[in-house]
Amino acid sequence: MKSIYLDHAATTPMHPRVLEAMLPYLQEQYGNPSSVYSLAREAKNAVEDARKRVAQFIGASPQEIIFTSGGTESDNMALWGVAQANRGRGKHIITTSIEHHAVLDTAAALEKEGFSVTYLPVDGYGQVQVADLKAAIRDDTILISIMYANNEVGTIQPIKELGQVARDHNIIFHTDAVQAAGYLPLDVDRDGVDLLSLSAHKLYGPKGVGVLYIRRGVKVANLLKGGGQERGRRPGTENVAGIVGLGEAIRLCQGKMEERVERLRHLRDLLIAGVLAKIDHVRLNGHPEKRLPGNAHFIFEFIEGESLLISLDLEGIAGSSGSACTSGSLEPSHVLLAMGLPHELAHGSLRLTLGEENTEEDIERVLQVLPPIVQRLRDMSPLYKQRAKVSGA
Ligand code: PLP
Repeated sequence: MKSIYLDHAATTPMHPRVLEAMLPYLQEQYGNPSSVYSLAREAKNAVEDARKRVAQFIGASPQEIIFTSGGTESDNMALWGVAQANRGRGKHIITTSIEHHAVLDTAAALEKEGFSVTYLPVDGYGQVQVADLKAAIRDDTILISIMYANNEVGTIQPIKELGQVARDHNIIFHTDAVQAAGYLPLDVDRDGVDLLSLSAHKLYGPKGVGVLYIRRGVKVANLLKGGGQERGRRPGTENVAGIVGLGEAIRLCQGKMEERVERLRHLRDLLIAGVLAKIDHVRLNGHPEKRLPGNAHFIFEFIEGESLLISLDLEGIAGSSGSACTSGSLEPSHVLLAMGLPHELAHGSLRLTLGEENTEEDIERVLQVLPPIVQRLRDMSPLYKQRAKVSGA
C-alpha cells in the first residue's frame, strides 16, 4: 500500500537537491563563519549567498535578513523584541485570535509584563476585517501582528490593505508568512510589512532554520545574548548547512511558483469537490477562494477528528485535525472557535494539505477510502443514530 502524505502544512519532505546543497557544509566545509581562514570564508560566503537569495525572495535587502531557528523564534523575536525596544512609545499591541501559538503565547507573556493586547476577531471564513483593525488602533499602539495565511484553514488575509492601515498610523507591522511562503508572492514594500517570519521546513527545506526580516530602522530587542553574529541581533554560531538548505529551497521554488500553485489548486479542487459530493453533513472551512492552494479543511458532523485520523493512518494516509486536538488536548481549535463554529462541530475537523509529490491518483484513493471511514465512524455515533431516527432514515 502506497502511503500518501497530506500534511504539508505541518512540514514538507526535504527536496533531494536541498540535501545535496547542504551536505558539503555538514562534512568538508565545516568552518565557523566567524573565523578568518579560508575554510571559514567558504562557510561565510555560503551564508551570505543564502541571505541574498532570501532577501530577493521577499523584496528586501540582505542586511535586513536575520537567520533564526525557525518560525517560532522569528515570531517570538518580532513580538517580544518590538515590544521591549519600543515600550517607551506605548504598550498596546494588536494581533488576531487565529494566530499560531508562537504569536499568541508571546502576546500572552507580554500581557503579563503589563502590555495590553487586542485580539481582532475574524469572520466565518477566518478573515480579518480592515475596519476592525482601524477601530482597534489607539494612540499607544506600537505593533500590529497579523498572519499572511492561516495554518489550519488556509485563509489568506488582505495583508496589503492591513499593512496600509499600519503605515497610515505609523505603527510597526509584522506578518507571520510561514504558511504563505512558496505559494503567494511576497513583497515587503508592496505589503507595507516591517517584520516578516519564514520557516524553511514548510518549503521543502530543513527543520530548525527560519528567517526574521526586519526593515531597516525598526527597533527590535534581541531575544538571545551572546556573540556578534547576524549583525549582533541573533547571537550563536550560524546553522550553516540549514541556512544553505533554506537558500536552496527558496531557489527551487522561486522559478516555478505559478506552475506549482496551479497544480496544487487543481488537486485541491478535485479533493474538495469529491468530498463534498460523496459525503453528506460535511462542510468546507476557510475561504472558498482566498485560501492556500494546497489546503482543504473539512468538518464532518457527528464524528471526532481524532478517530478519523487514526482510521486514515491505518490506510496509509497522513492528515491532521489541524488543531490543538492533535497534541492530545481535548480543546477544540482556537481558529475554528474564532470563526464561530460551535464546540461540538469544531471537534470533527480534518485538514488535508497537499504538496509537490501528490498526484491525482492520491486524491482518487482518498475519495475512495474516506466515505466508508466516515460512515463507519458515524454508525458508532449515538448522536448520528439519534438524528437518523428523527429524520426517519
Ligand atoms: N507560524 C505558522 C503559521 C506555522 O504554521 C508554524 C508551524 O507550524 C510556525 C509559525 C512555527 O514554525 P516552526 O515550526 O519553524 O517553529
